[in-house]
This record gives sequence, structure tokens and C-alpha cells, in this order.
Amino acid sequence: MFSANRRAKADLSPRLPEARKLLKRVWGHGDFRGLQAEVVSEILDGRDVMAVLPTGGGKSVCYQVPAILRPGVGLVVSPLIALMTDQVEALKQQGVAAARLDSGVSMDERSAIWRAARNGELDLLYVSPEGLAAGSMLERLADIELSLIAIDEAHCVSQWGHDFRPDYRSLGRLVEFFPHVPRIAVTATADARTRDDILASLRLEGARVFVDSFARPNLQLSAERKINGSRARTDAAVVELVRERRGKSGVVYCGSRDGCERVAQTLRDAGTNAIAYHAGFDAKERDQRLERFLAEDGAVMVATIAFGMGVDKPDVRFVIHADPPGSLEAYWQEIGRAGRDGEPAEGITLYGPSDIAWSLRRLEGRPMAEEVKQVQTRKVRQLFAMLDGAACRPQAVRRYFGEQDAQPCGVCDICGDPPATFDAVIPAQKALAAVQRMGERYGKNRIIDHLTGRTKDVQPWESQISTWGIGTELSVNGWRDVLDHLLFEGLLVEDPNEGMPIVRLGDPEAVRAVYRGERAVQVRKPPARVVVEDRPRRNAGRNLAVEALDTDVRARFESLRNWRRDRASEQRVPPYVIFQDKTLVEIALSEPRSLSELGRIAGVGAGKLERYGKGVLDALQSAA
Ligand code: ADP
Ligand code: ZN
Repeated sequence: MFSANRRAKADLSPRLPEARKLLKRVWGHGDFRGLQAEVVSEILDGRDVMAVLPTGGGKSVCYQVPAILRPGVGLVVSPLIALMTDQVEALKQQGVAAARLDSGVSMDERSAIWRAARNGELDLLYVSPEGLAAGSMLERLADIELSLIAIDEAHCVSQWGHDFRPDYRSLGRLVEFFPHVPRIAVTATADARTRDDILASLRLEGARVFVDSFARPNLQLSAERKINGSRARTDAAVVELVRERRGKSGVVYCGSRDGCERVAQTLRDAGTNAIAYHAGFDAKERDQRLERFLAEDGAVMVATIAFGMGVDKPDVRFVIHADPPGSLEAYWQEIGRAGRDGEPAEGITLYGPSDIAWSLRRLEGRPMAEEVKQVQTRKVRQLFAMLDGAACRPQAVRRYFGEQDAQPCGVCDICGDPPATFDAVIPAQKALAAVQRMGERYGKNRIIDHLTGRTKDVQPWESQISTWGIGTELSVNGWRDVLDHLLFEGLLVEDPNEGMPIVRLGDPEAVRAVYRGERAVQVRKPPARVVVEDRPRRNAGRNLAVEALDTDVRARFESLRNWRRDRASEQRVPPYVIFQDKTLVEIALSEPRSLSELGRIAGVGAGKLERYGKGVLDALQSAA
């Protein structure tokens, strides 16, 4: 854990004990964790602050607690309706006066919300950045006492970030309208450059910045090369991976809508409860699908990136990338949706050379400034270099985020089974030279034929080139691995060329560094492992060890889960906003006999005790 300008503990707010009590009473959490106490202290004392905490790190508490303690309404700017709905619902369940103003809220409700805000009856008000920019919102807010302004997913303000939203740009002006209201920016993903940009754009120059460690020790990460170009085999690999995790809740990310529906169908044919989700479904359909995913045990969401932000299901046990994401930020955020409850979970990424080509091509087609495009291109390359690299995965990502002292995790595929690598500088130089001398006009196979001197009916122009037949040290497969690795490192790029791909030289500076022997090229040996492989998985995501519970504890857990399902469907909310699995397991294990015993269990705050205490005790009784 590290943070800029971190002050000594003695400087924590005098109101912190009060905040701790509130955390216990409303959320049922024993204490603040990580940097929460420091962040909450700043804002409690009326100072601006920025918090960079990993997904699942508990960012929302950082502004929700002070919003309740400080006089006035806490204004939360949040980029997605799903995110707002979830948080507001969870807060209401806890007995906190929270509301949201988004396009889905009727006129009548709106008036009621504004009235409550003016009368000081509201603790938290969630709005979208567009909502804030439009019409009368700012005017109406001017009449209301604000306790703080929170900007959630603050990386959206930066064009150096991976999820830039122009609407966020105007949020910097809030300081003019509300000069005395402390502001807090929170995000899960921001490298140093993005952080500086957030501070400048939101005009948070004086804010203290807290950056938590990005370690997610409960996640076991792995990445596997796809078998060259075969979609059916990739689908089969996904099916196999999901079947090995039968009964567990998971997410499978696909790069396209078509792919998403195809994989979902393949999974359903194989007997999995798979649900497709992408932006091609209308809002109502998407909501229904999301609800099913949240409510049904062991459901697998097969989705494009349209799914995710704001979906806080705590017990997702695995995230599989059938197609890789576009950056390390997106990767960390997406795999971060697994294991939010802190229990073991897995992140598995399948990637291939055609994926990097596709990612780069998609960037080409997007309307953005050349400068932004270059940043995004570099991000794609850094992601693939990690996936195809031989370094501990979390360590590589954490270093990328600026944690220079990150140590190997000990549980990822690389740590568990360190791949042998070989120094491939010379083969890399030969391959790059061959691509260049052949005029950057040919595909991989043709280059390999050239290097190994196997070109059929070779013409004199080719056999006279100095790279002809100089690659006898490697087999055809060996060369394929080297070329693929050069693609993943961005030293070569593949141009799809309407189905007849050709390879060209990549980043000129990097290529020169290889020619001069200044850049190391390490290729894995033997790479291209077959994707579907029978091998024991260390630590493969237990479902909170539910399987390992004694029969009677298990019976109580099932009874509690049925009770929860009924409460959830009555209120049309996801089951976990009532109680998380982790809390139900705790209850099943400790068998509380009274409301006060129940109230001592982590995750059972006063609001929930009042609402559900009796129901829980009854459900326990009925299991006895
Ligand atoms: P983020 O928005 O950073 O991804 P959340 O605010 O959704 O994270 O919190 C993630 C999980 O951590 C939630 O299940 C929440 O209940 C839990 N949590 C947050 N703060 C604490 C705490 N101090 N102690 C225990 N659990 C916490
Ligand atoms: Zn590792």
C-alpha cells in the first residue's frame, strides 16, 4: 500500500470514531479497511481528496459515510444508470435515505426527491454527468445544502484513461458553483499520467491523493494462447473451462455481439445456464437478463463489455475472456469482477495473434484525436505483451499501475509453472529483417518458408535476398512462436488485408532497438500450449467452501438462501443486496439464537437487523 503525501495516523479526523460507529451500525463492517479511514478523514474535515482503490476495495463507503455524517446532501456523480440503481438500492436496504435522478425516474418522483433534498431528508443523491450538465439541475442544487460532491469512476474524465467520456470534462466547473463543498474523486484504475489528468481536469489541485495497492490476492490469474485462428476450438475451450466450474457463477467476455450469442448458445447446448448480454438487446431485455444472472445460482453471463460497470455481484467465481480486453486497465477491471467478496476466484484469458490485430484495427476506425489513438495503441500492446510474457501476471499489472515494489503473487499460472524462455534476439533480428527485405507484403507462413528456405518454386529475386534460408536453427513451429511473440510485443503488426493477412514492421523505435541488440526478446518454450488441457488447478475457486460445510450447516445455509431468494424476488432486487453469501455462511455457522447475537455478525447492520432479523431467525429454525 502506498500513498502520496500520506500523513501520520495521529492526523486522522477527530470525527473518525463516529464514522466507525456509523460503519458498524449501517453496514455491519467491523472497521475501515485499507485506506478508507484516511480518505474518509479528509472529506470529513472538509478537504478535497482523490482515492484510487482497486475494484472491490470499498470505494463507495469512502463518500457514503461522510455524506451521512456531514450536514446536507451528498451529491454523487456516476456514469451509469446500472451503477446508480445498484448503490441506491443497497443503501435503501440499509435504511439510508438515498435517491437517484436519471432518465428512468418519473416527473412525480423527481419532485418528491427535490422536496426531500430541500427539506434535508436526503443523505445521498445520485446523478449522471449529462443530467448535471443539462438544464436546471445546477440551479436547483444551488438551493440545497451539499455535504460533499463525489465523482465516481473519475478516470472517465481523462483521455489518457481507457474509458474517456466527454461529458465528464465539464465536471471541473463544479468548483465554481460549489466552492466550499469538499469534493472526492474515486476510481479503480489510473496510472500516474491519468491521475494527474484527473486532478487537473476536475480542478482538484489541492487534493490529497491516496493510492491503494492493486493486489488482489484472492484472484488466481492465467492466460492461454488460442489455437491459431480456429473459432470453434476457442468456443470448445470456453465450454470446457466453464464445465470444470459447473454450479459457479461466472462471466465470459466476448469481443462481439455475434460471438457472445454463439458462445452462449454453445454453452447452453452443453447444459450450462448461460445468458447472453450485449448492447443489441433493448434496455428492458438487458434488465431481465441481468436480473436472471443476479438471481439464479450458477448462472454464467456471456457478455460484451456492455456488461459490467456497476454490477457488484460479490460471488462471481470466475471471469473468462474468450476474447481479450483492450488494455491492462480494462483487463484488471474486468477480472476484478470476480471474487469481490474476497473469496478465491479465477481470471482466465484466451488470446491469439488475430486478437491483437483486431484490437488495433478497431482503434483505427474510431473517431479520436491522433494523440489519443497513439495512447490507446500503446495500451493494446502493453496488454498483449503481458499476456504473452513470462512475468507473474499480477506483478506485471501492478508495476504498470506504478507499484514498483510489487512481488510475484505465487498463485498465477506463471508463478505456479514458470515457463522456460529462450533468448530470441537473434531469431527476432532475422525475422524482422526478413519481413523488411521481403517488402512487408507477405503473411507469416510465407515469411517462415523464406527464413527456412522452403519457398516452393523459389524465384531468383527471393533466393538472392540475404535473409533467404538463414533460419535453420528453428523448426517451423519455433518460428511461428517467435513471429507470434513479435506480434504480441508490437514489433510486428498484422494487417488483415481482407482475409489474406500480411505482416509488417511495428513500432519503428522498438524495431531499431532489437536490431541494435538493446532490447531483450524472450520467447516462451515450449509455447502454444494446447488450450484444453487436463491439469489440476491450484486453488480453483471454491464457492465460499459451501461444498465443504457440514451437512447441518449446509442445510441452514440452503434454508437461508431460499428465504433470501423469496425476499429478493418480492422486492425485485438482487439477492446480494439483502445479504451476501459470505454473511449467510457466517450466520449458518454461528447459528445466532437472538437478534442481538445476529447483529454481531459481519454484514448485519442495524437497518438489516430490523428489516430481516426475525425472518433470518425463523429460516434458521425451519432448517433445524
Ligand atoms: P468498489 O466500489 O471499490 O468496487 P464496493 O464499495 O462495492 O467496492 O465494496 C466492495 C465490497 O467490499 C462490498 O461487498 C462491501 O460491502 C465490502 N466492504 C467495503 N468496505 C468494507 C469494510 N470496511 N469492511 C468490510 N467490507 C467492506
Ligand atoms: Zn504470479
